[in-house]
Amino acid sequence: MNASLYGMLLEPLGQIAGVGPALEKRLAGRGIQNLGDLLLHFPKDYEDDREVVPIALLGEGIPARIVGHIVRKTARGFGRNRQVNIVLADETGQISLHFFHSGYMMSDARLSEGRQISVRGVPEIWKGHLQMSHPEWQVTEQYQPGFRPVYPTLAGLTSRRLSDLIGKALGMLPQGAASPLDSKFTDLPVLARSLSMLHQPDGLDGLAAARQRCQLEELTVYLQLMREKKRQAEIAAPSIRAGTKVQQLLASLPFPLTKAQSEVWQEIADDLASGKRMHRLVQGDVGAGKTWVAALALAACADAGLQAAIMAPTEVLAGQHAATLAELLEPAGIEVALLTGSTPAAAKRKIRQGLADGSTSCVIGTHALIADTVGYHRLGLAIVDEQHRFGVKQRWALAERGQAVHLLGMTATPIPRSLALALYGDLDLSVMHGMPPGRKPVDTRVLTRRGQLAEGLDRIMDEGGQVYWIVPRIDEEEDGVSVEQRAVALRERFPEANVLPLHGRMKSADKSAALEAFSAGRSRMLVSTTVIEVGVNVPAARVIVIEHADRYGLAQLHQLRGRVGRSEAQGYCILIPGKEASESAIARLQRMVATHDGLELAEADLGLRGSGDAIGTRQSGEAGFRLIDPACDASLIRRYAELLPEAMLPEEAVRFWRPAAEAVD
Ligand code: ADP
Ligand code: MG
Repeated sequence: MNASLYGMLLEPLGQIAGVGPALEKRLAGRGIQNLGDLLLHFPKDYEDDREVVPIALLGEGIPARIVGHIVRKTARGFGRNRQVNIVLADETGQISLHFFHSGYMMSDARLSEGRQISVRGVPEIWKGHLQMSHPEWQVTEQYQPGFRPVYPTLAGLTSRRLSDLIGKALGMLPQGAASPLDSKFTDLPVLARSLSMLHQPDGLDGLAAARQRCQLEELTVYLQLMREKKRQAEIAAPSIRAGTKVQQLLASLPFPLTKAQSEVWQEIADDLASGKRMHRLVQGDVGAGKTWVAALALAACADAGLQAAIMAPTEVLAGQHAATLAELLEPAGIEVALLTGSTPAAAKRKIRQGLADGSTSCVIGTHALIADTVGYHRLGLAIVDEQHRFGVKQRWALAERGQAVHLLGMTATPIPRSLALALYGDLDLSVMHGMPPGRKPVDTRVLTRRGQLAEGLDRIMDEGGQVYWIVPRIDEEEDGVSVEQRAVALRERFPEANVLPLHGRMKSADKSAALEAFSAGRSRMLVSTTVIEVGVNVPAARVIVIEHADRYGLAQLHQLRGRVGRSEAQGYCILIPGKEASESAIARLQRMVATHDGLELAEADLGLRGSGDAIGTRQSGEAGFRLIDPACDASLIRRYAELLPEAMLPEEAVRFWRPAAEAVD
């Protein structure tokens, strides 16, 4: 065993030749403190610059390297703003190159007519002619073929500069430096090699394996911390017993609990009464009915005279929960307060007061609930809805606002039990199988021509159904359609529907107004970005149309689809691929037609993502991971499920993968 690899990774950046105090400081400002941090700044893409393409074979929009001689060089405009145009030819054809603000090129001897140069850029077709705008150029002798990483810019450094720095950092790793796990995951390259493969690859081959090897390292540290934490977490907590309020709530529910709901509720009730602090995660597919279970836990807490809080990831969802829970809990005599970032100051003050003196017993909100200014009189239960949307730290922050607070997480992220235990090792798991009775699978279609879509929507709305229409962006963009643009067009086609827009940048009051109008049926069609992705529940919504569906992962599409099919009426999900969607992208969407199983889709996401995505390494995952995505990397975890539990890494490795800011404490 040799821990010096990690020792090295923790060395400060100043050790790299050419990194002075100023640059060190700039990088530190972006969270890059040591060699390892830098090595974890992975390329977002790779550039294949190994081949010279004959001009006649250039494809529109496909970046390429060409070599040719300058046939003509002309300029337009004056001074520094001059645009220089060069016609470049090889044996197969010719292309015009345009350089803007580049007057200096006119006098550059390397660019005189007849000279040979090498150029890399993206070919476009303009009025039937090939051209490139502002390509990179070199005299031919300087062109070095290669397969190069393309880095996200960092602290203002270009991709080339980063590549250079990272190359130096790699060079500093001691020969033969090993991780203790190298001998465990023997079917993958060793850690040091994996790092250099990702940064200095010869080609796409092996990149996926290299990335997986790095992920396993992080996963091991994570599991190690989880095991430790679970051991520490067993502490005494108030025993909460269901009483009259729970009875009243049960009696007032419009439908009986499903079998799954009562089983899960029983597990929670046992935990709450046990006298030990609860740490439980409820996992149930979208629409399974997790909110009622949460309501029961809230009622039990009120029975015990303790305060309870629910935290949701978005204001839209917090607002909806407040409305739903107010309705559910009122018959039991429990009032609920709503606290988000956009709660007006006066109301905020009042709620904070109520929470501090104990007169407010139940609060629903966003991150605002964990603000320093919010103090709780006697918090007994913290519920974190859509818990996968929160970092590990945030997940705990709410429970830490009191002493020995019971913690309940809820998620629809489908992870098999064995994996969930590994990933959320600090929590017990309740799985809510199945749906409330009468639900039909959402009829899903991939629409490449819009044909009869509008008539279909007319029919559904005539029957009283409502429609979500999802567009990718808020703003106008050359490739997409904005919420506002789409709303205008749909308003014209469906004048009766009172089409309303909804997106994250609207004022909070407008957002709630739109969602409320849609919930109440005053608006029949909501044009929205993915802000409605999680949690939103409007049972009368029967259709969800998703434009540019190929831009989303299958797991995300499944979440979106979960917004419909929430009643006994047949729901529909219409997936419209973007015009430029490839055949394989469309085939991927077809998976949505065939399966309604969230877990299968999450795994398909991983299997179907090509090498392009396998290298699209995330810099920081949602749960505070550097590399891992708990939902999408499930099959990796499963593959090593037997080896992972016994894998151990030394203290330096733990410090490396979990810097203080992210510590799971
Ligand atoms: P999720 O699990 O995705 O959070 P929700 O709690 O939003 O799901 O519930 C989805 C819908 O199912 C809601 O409209 C809710 O009223 C309804 N529902 C929940 N439980 C039952 C039940 N036992 N019988 C019938 N409908 C139910
Ligand atoms: Mg929910």
